[in-house]
Amino acid sequence: MYELHQVGENSFYIASPANMGVYRIAADAAVLIDSGNDKDAAKKALRRFEEQGWRLAAVFSTHSHADHIGGNKLLQERTGCPVYAPGIDCHFTRDPLLEPALLFAGCPPKALRGKFLMAQPSDASPLTEAALPAGLTALPLPGHSFDMVGFRTADDVVFLGDALVRQETLDKYHVSFLFDTAAYLETLEKLTRMKAACFVPSHADPTDDIAPLAEANLAKTREVLDFVRGALEQPRSFEDLLAALFTHYGLTMDFNQNVLVGSTLKSHLAYLLDQGEAAVAFVDNRLIWQRAAE
Ligand SMILES: [Zn+2]
Repeated sequence: MYELHQVGENSFYIASPANMGVYRIAADAAVLIDSGNDKDAAKKALRRFEEQGWRLAAVFSTHSHADHIGGNKLLQERTGCPVYAPGIDCHFTRDPLLEPALLFAGCPPKALRGKFLMAQPSDASPLTEAALPAGLTALPLPGHSFDMVGFRTADDVVFLGDALVRQETLDKYHVSFLFDTAAYLETLEKLTRMKAACFVPSHADPTDDIAPLAEANLAKTREVLDFVRGALEQPRSFEDLLAALFTHYGLTMDFNQNVLVGSTLKSHLAYLLDQGEAAVAFVDNRLIWQRAAE
């Protein structure tokens, strides 16, 4: 863990629970793409930079989830580097309480304020074209998070953030976290056609052909959506649908998984409602989900 791997002339990544991308912008300077899950990951990244004689010029965030921005605060304290984050994800990076608040849909209890769901705040600025160094372009990959981006380098490496997960994760957890089902499906479809010399996902091994993994993620997401469609044949409350989803895939519920899978299920239900496939009814002061009438 935390070794530096070269994947292009100026492109590298630091292997970690959420891989950190590195793009060298000069002989003595490089930028980081995501900062790892906490201050310890950031310290290790800084050590790699010191070993190479690189100054940390900036951190570019793919999105605002805690395991991607957890090192921001320490890096800014130690180096004063700017942090750039895309769109709405910039607000969440500045004020990470928004993340558990979104997932819980209310003021989150302490149990949801650990570092798994809530990073330390950092002084992020909106990601703009002007903020990017020569040779680095941002690639919109929305769906998993509000405004997630990937980054393509001049040496044809694409850092993918959390646009997809490894096959083993699909097989074990089945329900990949997402915020916007329609955008997520569109992003995965785009990835099945994308070409690059090397793709670096945050939670899967680098590859020169991302199409098979993109197809597998797409197929699993469609399978989960089909399960939800089937479950709606019988009108049910959200809690009953969530229980059916956990039971179907043999998932283990805890507070974190309840809100992560729960939020994803709500996004799927909203998608089916907006597509005209689902309907809601209010029965005995409960919101009931069901299939839309033919
Ligand atoms: Zn994420």
